[in-house]
Amino acid sequence: MMNDSMELYQDVILDHNKSPRNQRRIEVADRKAVGYNPLCGDHVSVTIKLDGDVVSDVAFEGSGCAISTASASLMTESLKGKTLEEAKHLFERFHGLVTGETEQLEEAEGMGKLAVFSGVCNYPARVKCATLAWHTLKAALENDDGKVTTE
Ligand code: ZN
Repeated sequence: MMNDSMELYQDVILDHNKSPRNQRRIEVADRKAVGYNPLCGDHVSVTIKLDGDVVSDVAFEGSGCAISTASASLMTESLKGKTLEEAKHLFERFHGLVTGETEQLEEAEGMGKLAVFSGVCNYPARVKCATLAWHTLKAALENDDGKVTTE
């Protein structure tokens, strides 16, 4: 990874870890799930409000490392206004990006700030931190009251 993108990666993650966006609970949620990453000790819960099949609001609560918190924060920012199909598609793209399974440049395009997580694939132990909120999101979208663990 080049120095520029490494700095951007750190800046964005530090910012979202310090002031997470949408860190709260939606009291009357249409979908919710909790996730746990035993490898690092990250916990996250995701609550979603739907308007038809559009994600009108999404929030998270949790405690964990900087990467898991920043990832959850950026995820909630990216999802508002997306349809359920678009949200699932974004999960697939993000997953491909951080696991390095897909072509980086192609995947990073159009992903905005989420693209900073492409650097995570260089740190295999951190991949689960970065994807925890997303796996939890997927469980929430697929079935209410889902529980996921990265193990
Ligand atoms: Zn972690």
